[in-house]
Amino acid sequence: MKKKTAVVALGGNAITRQEEEDTIPHQFRNTTQSLSGVAELIKDGYNLAITHGNGPQVGNVIYRVELARGKAPYLPIQICVADTEGGMGYMIEQCLRNKLKQENITREVVTVVTQVIVNKDDPSIKNPSKFIGQFYSEEEAENFTKERGWIVKKDSNRGWRRVVPSPIPLEIVEKDSIKVLVENGVIVIAAGGGGVPVCRKEDGTLEGLDGVIDKDRASAVLARDIGAELLLILTEVEKVALNYDTPYQKNLDKITLEQAREYLKEGHFPEGSMGPKIESAIQFLEAGGKEVIITSIAKVHESVKRKAGTRITK
Ligand code: ADP
Ligand code: MG
Repeated sequence: MKKKTAVVALGGNAITRQEEEDTIPHQFRNTTQSLSGVAELIKDGYNLAITHGNGPQVGNVIYRVELARGKAPYLPIQICVADTEGGMGYMIEQCLRNKLKQENITREVVTVVTQVIVNKDDPSIKNPSKFIGQFYSEEEAENFTKERGWIVKKDSNRGWRRVVPSPIPLEIVEKDSIKVLVENGVIVIAAGGGGVPVCRKEDGTLEGLDGVIDKDRASAVLARDIGAELLLILTEVEKVALNYDTPYQKNLDKITLEQAREYLKEGHFPEGSMGPKIESAIQFLEAGGKEVIITSIAKVHESVKRKAGTRITK
């Protein structure tokens, strides 16, 4: 029987937790814990690609680059994203290999630094709006605009931050390689942090772009491109809700594609958090995907047995 293929997208809290200091030992510990449910899926025989966010990590790489200005070679954002794909991929891969070893499961695990095709005319390139890195005072931010050509915007009441393009992902460059690996039972860690955005020029060559891609959107494109049946988006909440965080909150067990579109239109899913997840779910189902589950990292195994999470199907 053909094994079921799923793409599992790990949210920020799989690796870094708000309530504790962000150190590498903490990241290793959190990642190991977060992979328990994923190991259960592997035991059940799923073929898997795993994606992950990189918000705090890429912010820190960029911060180090700024601190080292004039002392070490400058790294553009595309390299910072690729660096986090490699570094975080190494960590996730090792944690998963160790977990599988302890459970006597023989499966290969590999990390693929992933490039993602975007449109060179994507509107976000002219009008960047994705916040990245540190908070600055208005004065500091103005200076960075003058000295470094940054575009800065006010981020809530916490201060000013740099904004970068976050283009819509169209296609995974390494999709054929990833598909071959996944179909042969290799667990592939790919599209970390959404992958590096690249444009395809007229002669077919690729050129990197200094921006970031939403990891849930990239995960939906990856899931489509490798022919996965299931997209599992793992975050902090067990279920998607209507009227989230109000006295009228209603958790959802199962919704249709049509309902997802309606609730999105009604404004239940904010742009900076649940919105892109629901849009990614819609996109994957429209592209032929069978099922999307949004749930917490702790509930991943229960969710595939239909005992937890929010399921979205056609
Ligand atoms: P990630 O885990 O990928 O980092 P985010 O933190 O950006 O994801 O978004 C997930 C968060 O969105 C949830 O933890 C929750 O706090 C918030 N959220 C906003 N709207 C909703 C909703 N309608 N239902 C459930 N969670 C929601
Ligand atoms: Mg988050």
